[in-house]
Amino acid sequence: MYIKKQRLLTPGPTPLLPAALHAMMGSDIHHRTEDFRTLYKQVLSDLKHVLGTSNDVLVLVSSGSGGLEAATQNFFSPGDEVLVCSAGKFGERWVDIMKAWGMKATVLTAPYGDAVHSETVEQTLAKNPAIKGVFVQASETSTGTQHDVKSMGLAVKKTNAIFVVDAITGIGTMPLDIAGWGLDIVVGGSQKAFMIPPGLAFLSISPKAWALADSAKAPRFYFDLKREKKNADSGESAWTPNIALLLALAEALKYIKSIGMDKLVENAQLLARATREAVQELGLELFSSSPGSSVTAVRPPAGMDSGVIVKEFRNRFNAIITNGQGSMKGQIFRLAHLGYFDFHDLFAIVAELELILAANGLPVRFGSGVAAVQNVYAGAALPKPAVREPEAALAR
Ligand SMILES: *Cc1c(COP(=O)(O)O)cnc(C)c1O
Repeated sequence: MYIKKQRLLTPGPTPLLPAALHAMMGSDIHHRTEDFRTLYKQVLSDLKHVLGTSNDVLVLVSSGSGGLEAATQNFFSPGDEVLVCSAGKFGERWVDIMKAWGMKATVLTAPYGDAVHSETVEQTLAKNPAIKGVFVQASETSTGTQHDVKSMGLAVKKTNAIFVVDAITGIGTMPLDIAGWGLDIVVGGSQKAFMIPPGLAFLSISPKAWALADSAKAPRFYFDLKREKKNADSGESAWTPNIALLLALAEALKYIKSIGMDKLVENAQLLARATREAVQELGLELFSSSPGSSVTAVRPPAGMDSGVIVKEFRNRFNAIITNGQGSMKGQIFRLAHLGYFDFHDLFAIVAELELILAANGLPVRFGSGVAAVQNVYAGAALPKPAVREPEAALAR
């Protein structure tokens, strides 16, 4: 077995859309020209389209965390009271950002693998009307857990606080009704379901959030969203943009529009469901009590370090999956579904997992996990047989 194609199967960066990758070679465009303005206007309008919002959508040159920081410094002042839902490493990142900007954060913590409940958010808001913002992960990538941002959003909507959602792995893996659920700020990142390399962050910003920005006193310069908005309105970015990634994004958005955002979500949901059924069929346990569709976190067999499975995928199949982060390292391995993942990938991943478990002495009936995936496919996505050509037409 000498040929092992490298496959990036992590929950970010994710597999790249070939058309997007090829488009990056046309990067010799200057950003203060009509060519650029045409590209940028298209990207901004397509982003709104796929996010299903009429709110302003802005693009920043940074990884997703830059979007999280911008969502903090542009709308709040040091000393402001905020509420943070923390259910994993990314929730902890919100807490760190609040600390860095001098905000007074009340933190609702769920153990790794669990979600923060919307009732708790509602009760905390009722007890503390001074809270100006509520922060959460739609999908907590470190534990494979999703939050009920709909119920949380409806609760926050009734207050003066704004709802700031890290949807970096939520976009494209779960429905997000930005206006209906009151998602005031939604942050996305290029290297997740958008199928392109890391380096761009996106923010959708509601009128309620913009109103709060008027009184926000945290210092800002590079991530000045009002400045960015003023430029975006004339088809330009405030600073030199990442042209290569914008070209890639334009192609990815064209692709997502062609299949439909709802179908991209359904794709992730179906793959996630098939993954859950397959790993349980193989006797493995899910880590999350509220599993989402961006990534599935799985406990290794008793007594086995999950790093062994991650390493085996790499060594045997050149497939890159992820271990747990922080204290979850060794405790879980994570299989991703967001963006450019398909059933073909999943059949291989599950077949390989069976081989890896067997090679490590576990009793595995080859094909049992794969059959679980096949059953989900057959039940949900098996197309009706194509209408057969009349024999006469074939003979001609
Ligand atoms: C990937 C990710 C981020 C962003 O991380 P960066 O490395 O800054 O791109 C933030 N939140 C969640 C939930 C993520 O999955």
